[in-house]
Amino acid sequence: VPLSARSLTSAGVLLELIRTGRANTRSELANVTGLARTTVAQRLVTLFAHNFVIEAGGVPSTGGRPPAFLAFNSRVGVILAADLGATRARLAVSDLAGAPLAERTLEVDLRQGPAPVLERVEAAFRDLLEQVGRGAADVRGVGIGVPAPIALDRGAPIAPPLMPGWNRFPIQAWFQERHDAPVLVDNDVNVLALGEHRTYWRNVENLLYVKVDAGIGCGIVAGGQIHRGENGGAGDIGHIRLAGHEEIQCPCGNVGCLEAVAGGPAIAARLTRAGVEASTTQDVVQLALAGDRQAVHEIRATGRHLAEVLAFCVTCFNPSAIIIGGDVAAAHEQLLAGMREMIFKRSLPGSAAELRVVRGRLGDRAGVIGAALMVAEVVLTPESIDQAVEREPARLQSA
Ligand SMILES: [Zn+2]
Repeated sequence: VPLSARSLTSAGVLLELIRTGRANTRSELANVTGLARTTVAQRLVTLFAHNFVIEAGGVPSTGGRPPAFLAFNSRVGVILAADLGATRARLAVSDLAGAPLAERTLEVDLRQGPAPVLERVEAAFRDLLEQVGRGAADVRGVGIGVPAPIALDRGAPIAPPLMPGWNRFPIQAWFQERHDAPVLVDNDVNVLALGEHRTYWRNVENLLYVKVDAGIGCGIVAGGQIHRGENGGAGDIGHIRLAGHEEIQCPCGNVGCLEAVAGGPAIAARLTRAGVEASTTQDVVQLALAGDRQAVHEIRATGRHLAEVLAFCVTCFNPSAIIIGGDVAAAHEQLLAGMREMIFKRSLPGSAAELRVVRGRLGDRAGVIGAALMVAEVVLTPESIDQAVEREPARLQSA
């Protein structure tokens, strides 16, 4: 990112250099920015006064006193993060590096509508804050992942088929009324994709994160950033039509959608018809993990259906990696085995040559970690830090 001459002198830019590991001593900061050491020292006084930077011991050097190592103080504030699912919400109070300090899982039913669900999330946030000994003033941002397309300008879901009452409900504004800090709301798979990308795939420009659960969706990282498309609908692959399944009605109104054929509830329904009792995605996962042959067979079939769609995506988008997450993905290696084979068979050799198809590594914490990182990236920009040090009184007392 090119930095203007003026912005090079700001405390926010120095913090960015420290936080990203590009400069962690006073002389490195002077070298990288071209600033005089006295100017660097002045900016550091500001960052120390606001507790954004801590000195973390010495760096080994040959001869003389080791220069003090400067580190970002990720505990200077906290982020409230929530990953809302159809039946479960995972919540966390996280530090500014995205690491959860305290976590909680709530059983929820999004079909109850936004108010009762969000009230419980907010109450749990307050509990978690108390648990880690923090208060409202420590909250630097709120990040929420929702299983629906989100209009980013208004932070509201758009026509989510399985969430009656949530259409255009202003989730962002709802939390904004309760917190004096930025609130960001995004589609759950975008949040998941961001979490995995920033944690394990930072050096990769283009990847797809596919969530296979009750629903099926895809988060797209293009050029290192989340690609949302014109109105937040990019990657909604669960509603791509599979050939040969026209008899299956999808709640979205179309027929033969990938999600209606291969999502968790669809698998459960087929198992039940075959005499193996199952009603939820979790039932399917349990059966597969227990080695039920019918369930394993169904999960392999899901892998093939997914691969059919993903082979098209690979040709259109040419990603370096496809990360598979969600409960169904966790159930069996067979899902990935079947998918890899079919994706490579169906894609052009050129676009699939370097492609990796792997399981997500953050597991069921990917959502809260991604939601916290989504907020951190906004509240830690040099501009935001410069505004914060201007606006807030110095607070040297707590770390
Ligand atoms: Zn559909």
